[in-house]
Amino acid sequence: MFLKGKRALVTGSTSGIGLAVARALHAEGAEVVLNGFGDEDEIADLCKELSAAHSGADLTDTGQIETMMDEAGEIDILVNNAGMQHVAPVEEFPVAKWDTILSLNLTAAFHTTRLAVPAMKAKGWGRIVNTASAHSKVASPFKSAYNAAKHGLDGFTKTIALELAEHGVTANCISPGYVWTPLVENQIPDTMKARGMSREQVINDVLLVKQATKKFVQPEEIGALAVFLCRKEAQNVNGANWSVDGGWTAE
Ligand code: NAD
Repeated sequence: MFLKGKRALVTGSTSGIGLAVARALHAEGAEVVLNGFGDEDEIADLCKELSAAHSGADLTDTGQIETMMDEAGEIDILVNNAGMQHVAPVEEFPVAKWDTILSLNLTAAFHTTRLAVPAMKAKGWGRIVNTASAHSKVASPFKSAYNAAKHGLDGFTKTIALELAEHGVTANCISPGYVWTPLVENQIPDTMKARGMSREQVINDVLLVKQATKKFVQPEEIGALAVFLCRKEAQNVNGANWSVDGGWTAE
């Protein structure tokens, strides 16, 4: 329970990876603030399970982020995790989707960070963990907005790592390969269309083709790494982009 007394905000934590990270931080004693969309009753159950508060802020809206940060109070551990995907050839990529993906997957992390950092600096301790992706290191076709945003998130993380290093605050990316969550499931139909493939072909010949283990990463594995990054032993892990991709980006 080494995180007792620390407050963690995990964006996009009503589902998938963010929920696993929130559970892992809660298990170590952190007070958790959840964020994300979903069924009201299910979110109420999650709040009960994790003794957590919840913000339904839409992180593509700067005003809503500011309200969320204001209501959340001083944050010790900031996990920028909310994200979305859209799969389409660049010349057909919907302009509105590009804007939404850039604002959710990249710009939201800037806003939460700028608002969380003053309290972290004042306390001389903080952890910023950004869920990037293998797509922050390498690209795949038809994911122009996602790849651009995730590469940008890596650059942003390195920058704040340098700025905050002398204040006891670290900033790192965790970069999963494919994790079986709604985000992955939802991109299968568009990928089938963009590549003219069946569902099985998309799973085996696109999603898992580069993941050397040929297995999906489990959300709990990301939770465990986020916990490690909060430990004292990780105080010199700073500005890193940690792959959890079964070997995908080793190639
Ligand atoms: P998910 O779809 O299961 O969860 C996404 C979360 O973000 C949900 O809680 C959702 O409500 C929330 N969200 C969506 N739009 C939002 C908005 N506008 N404002 C606030 N919250 C919003 O997805 P996931 O797979 O758990 O993805 C989490 C993160 O992990 C994303 O940043 C994603 O890019 C990244 N990632 C996922 C994979 C994967 O294979 N699943 C791989 C690499 C990186």
